[in-house]
Amino acid sequence: MRLADLATPTLLLDRARLEANCIRMRDRCRALAVGLRPHMKTLKSIDAARIAIDPTHGGIAVSTLKEAEYFADHGIADIQLAVCITADKLPRAAALSRRIPCFSCFVGGADAANAVAAFAAAEGVPLRVWIEVDSGQHRTGTAPDGEELIAIARVLAGSPAQLAGVATHAGHSYDQRSCGAIAAIAEEERSAVTGAAQRLREAGFTIEGVSAGSTPTAVHTRSGAGLTELRPGVYMAGDLFQAAIGSHGADDIAVSVLSTVISHGRDPDRLILDAGALALSKDRSTAALEGGDLGYGLIADPAGQRVYGDLVVTGVNQEHGEVAIADRAVFARLPIGVRVAVFPNHACMTTAMHDRYIVMEDGRPVGIWAKTGGW
Ligand code: PLP
Repeated sequence: MRLADLATPTLLLDRARLEANCIRMRDRCRALAVGLRPHMKTLKSIDAARIAIDPTHGGIAVSTLKEAEYFADHGIADIQLAVCITADKLPRAAALSRRIPCFSCFVGGADAANAVAAFAAAEGVPLRVWIEVDSGQHRTGTAPDGEELIAIARVLAGSPAQLAGVATHAGHSYDQRSCGAIAAIAEEERSAVTGAAQRLREAGFTIEGVSAGSTPTAVHTRSGAGLTELRPGVYMAGDLFQAAIGSHGADDIAVSVLSTVISHGRDPDRLILDAGALALSKDRSTAALEGGDLGYGLIADPAGQRVYGDLVVTGVNQEHGEVAIADRAVFARLPIGVRVAVFPNHACMTTAMHDRYIVMEDGRPVGIWAKTGGW
């Protein structure tokens, strides 16, 4: 397999960077004395999961039932669906509970708890659930200090469902720009979920699992006290946004989109790529970074995985990407037909657009990894 022979656009995965990112997060969790439950929503691949899984923990998190079914098919025994369940999804959740030793999902409110309890009783399935608490993102989850928390635990305790523990995700860590501010959100995340666990224990419930985490809070937290596991995901791939907020270095991004220069546009001068919105995604998260807007992605040399100065994808149509250039010398450096790699703003959005990875080692494609997608 040669880079020049690959049909573009296609997704590249640098294996050495993936491995280094996984080792770094494993060491980080070890230093914090918490387990690592890698969230596979970003890479959605069993080959990547085998590298990411912490052998002292063994489990993964996923964001869709389809991912859960895919990883169950590939023999993963501990899968946490880190999204609130609803009544319509319970039959698939029950099928997973019967298939693998430890499937679990989130319950974020009294309605869902009632649905789980009724379904578990009717079907005789001991569904394992985590009560999700809201640590400040205000997306899903019950208040850690509210009455509903205890009410949910009571409903579950009166049914065959099993309480796996309490969980939270401080997604609002993405709004912060400094390491200190992210560390403060990490502390909010930790204190919300450990506080909820404490309240439940005082009310007589057994709480073993205390699960938290995003990539920024896992990297910047100052303490893991009271947590049993962290659940970051995007760190495996890395991306331009995470590099900008200090979750990893600029040279740690493991995924990129291989693309071909298909035209030289004039007036205004620009390169046209065959990677547009469907290959890169329309994520513009770096636009929120003061002075750090990287358009729809940053252009790099695909073999060396090093950036070409500050060339960025400035516009996208469905299958076209436009790279504005300030100097026509770029046309000679990047002629029509040449391959470039585009580092993504948000790896989760970009990888979701593709059904496989071309695995790169030492700048050369060495294999293909399948991945899942959809719901
Ligand atoms: N847990 C939950 C519930 C999430 O929604 C996410 C990401 O969206 C994560 C963990 C992983 O966080 P990150 O993407 O920052 O690694």
